[in-house]
Amino acid sequence: MNYDYVIVGGGAIGLAIAYRLKKSHEERSVLVLNSNETGTASLASGAMLGCFGEVTKYTLKNEAGKKKFDLMYAAHKQWASWREEVEASAQQSIRHTPGSYVILNTHGGSLDDENFDAMVQALVNYEEPYEYVAPKDIPGLHPNNLARPLRAIYLPNEGSIESNQYVEVLRVACRNIGITLTDIHSLGAIERRGNDYVVTIDDETNITTSSVIIATGAYTSSVLAKVTPTVGAMPVLAGNGVAAVTKRQLGEGFKATVRTANRAGSCGLHIVPMSDGCEYIGATNVLYSEPEARMTVGLSHFLSQCAIEQLDLNIYHSFVQTWRTGNRPVSLDTLPLIGKIDDLGLYVATGTYRDGLHCSPVIADALVAVIDEREAPLIESFNPQRTFTELMSKEVSMDEYAMQAVSGAYENWYRPAYYMNDDEVYKSARQKAADIYDQLQINVGLHPDILLLLSSDDSAIERVREYLLINEVQAT
Ligand SMILES: Cc1cc2nc3c(=O)[nH]c(=O)nc-3n(C[C@H](O)[C@H](O)[C@H](O)COP(=O)(O)OP(=O)(O)OC[C@H]3O[C@@H](n4cnc5c(N)ncnc54)[C@H](O)[C@@H]3O)c2cc1C
Repeated sequence: MNYDYVIVGGGAIGLAIAYRLKKSHEERSVLVLNSNETGTASLASGAMLGCFGEVTKYTLKNEAGKKKFDLMYAAHKQWASWREEVEASAQQSIRHTPGSYVILNTHGGSLDDENFDAMVQALVNYEEPYEYVAPKDIPGLHPNNLARPLRAIYLPNEGSIESNQYVEVLRVACRNIGITLTDIHSLGAIERRGNDYVVTIDDETNITTSSVIIATGAYTSSVLAKVTPTVGAMPVLAGNGVAAVTKRQLGEGFKATVRTANRAGSCGLHIVPMSDGCEYIGATNVLYSEPEARMTVGLSHFLSQCAIEQLDLNIYHSFVQTWRTGNRPVSLDTLPLIGKIDDLGLYVATGTYRDGLHCSPVIADALVAVIDEREAPLIESFNPQRTFTELMSKEVSMDEYAMQAVSGAYENWYRPAYYMNDDEVYKSARQKAADIYDQLQINVGLHPDILLLLSSDDSAIERVREYLLINEVQAT
């Protein structure tokens, strides 16, 4: 079997790339291979189409952060036309709810105030529309009085889609324009033979192609291990998230997305209105070395309690339609990995972490530009062959880790005695971070979310240290 392009992975990223490739090269053949893993990211997301709502105080602080924001901002500008294009190809509508409210409430620490301010500043700098609203005027929002929002803004140009329905519409659009979508049981070797790659599926079928695009999300490290000759790339970890789809029984319900800013390692507590009186409540984030399809009792309890207390007490009565668990693809430096992995026709598009579904249209455009040997400035900095990018120094990373622990403690109903302040939580978390750095013996700052993984997985410390040393990231 021969195809011009083979895309491994049929999530939001793989499908968007397939769609854009075929639209750009109608005469060429495109095959998407998908193994339908449990715990994939796209199907676990809400999904918010968040750009400014994702901003924290670090987003625009350094060049790498700004480059990532450029990608988000380009997606922000492109979503309406992307939606129309996909809808036209599929002859179906994508369910979309415009507008997002971002709230700052009392269930966090001082870091949340700083992140909220940074988001407003970014809106001002980019001359993006927003308005302050009285929290009591946000339809559906009825939190516990102890979790009353202090401030809230409305972002008319953000909003949400229903991720599962979107992926289904995108699949139809892909089929309608002539892409072959194939479900597979297992992926074998991806082997370089002469001028081509040969991809083996289901133990026996060989597919020959000149271009393989790997878009397998949090599963990417294990897929890259199947490539011969061996290729190297930064490890891709799994940001496991728990979410729920609920059916409302009491109360008016939410008319637009309502979210907090990103906090305590998570993507912010959020609720996304869906069709048929359903709502999506998301999402937790705990990093693992490998994708994890299960969820813990603790995190499902935590998410439910946060939603009831901070968003709407009536959610207590909602029926759970389904729990969703998925794994965000997270590179070791938390930045995307998109582009060529060799000069022989092998490409990767992953590492999208919290907002990959939203960024998928521009990632697709940019990767197709790279495949066609055109300029793709939006993804230049995210080449998968690059080495580790330090987003913050060790000192800042330890401080941020500790500040997030404080926010997390308050979200977990921490109440210090009046003479204690936040110091106890802050100091013990900072010490934990310092201990991790002592074990690592590497003079480079890691993202606090990576420290969170290392705080509970000693074997990951060894693997991270080894990777950074082999790649000559400075050792102490
Ligand atoms: C709980 C949660 C909430 C989120 N909320 C949002 C949000 O509101 N907005 C947003 O923009 N983003 C959100 N994200 C992030 C977003 O979902 C991801 O960044 C994005 O969907 C990643 O897409 P992907 O296609 O790379 O990965 P995935 O969706 O994980 O898709 C990977 C695909 O590869 C396939 N695959 C894996 N291994 C193989 C193999 N060996 N062979 C063949 N196929 C294989 C899988 O079956 C899967 O279909 C959220 C993520 C989670 C987990």
